Amino acid sequence: MKAGPKLKPFCKRGHEMIPENLYIAPNGRRRCVACHKLLMKDRPKTMLQSMPEYMAYCSAKSRCNHVGNRAYPSYGGRGIRFNFVSFEEFLRELGLRPSPKHSLDRINNDGNYETGNVRWATAKEQLYNRRPYVLSSFSDSDLLAEVKRRNLCPQ
Ligand SMILES: [Zn+2]
Repeated sequence: MKAGPKLKPFCKRGHEMIPENLYIAPNGRRRCVACHKLLMKDRPKTMLQSMPEYMAYCSAKSRCNHVGNRAYPSYGGRGIRFNFVSFEEFLRELGLRPSPKHSLDRINNDGNYETGNVRWATAKEQLYNRRPYVLSSFSDSDLLAEVKRRNLCPQ
């Protein structure tokens, strides 16, 4: 038999501690997602929570750490880790989101969320990053427009 602490099958409020209801924090502690949602439900949004940068931070963290997240299989499930230890560190690396068209992107799609591998990118920029097959889904005029957009220097 394995040594070590036994996992309780239910949280203190009686929610079942199945993988879909577990949030595993980077320090290995397990939290009950159902309880967390209950706590958050009636709480007014803080300034932080209304920042798109903070939302991006939370969703990326959840995709990597929360087994119940719908996107988990494509992130945490295939070894992508969320290595920022705080929102402050995350924001220092990325800066403010340049526009609502930008979303969080990893430069190397197989790499982790960490310093040096994250940026704000538009949907189009993100598509370009998923080489090579996506290029074929762009028409010639799309490509031309993108080339023009990137060369913003005088003609
Ligand atoms: Zn609970």
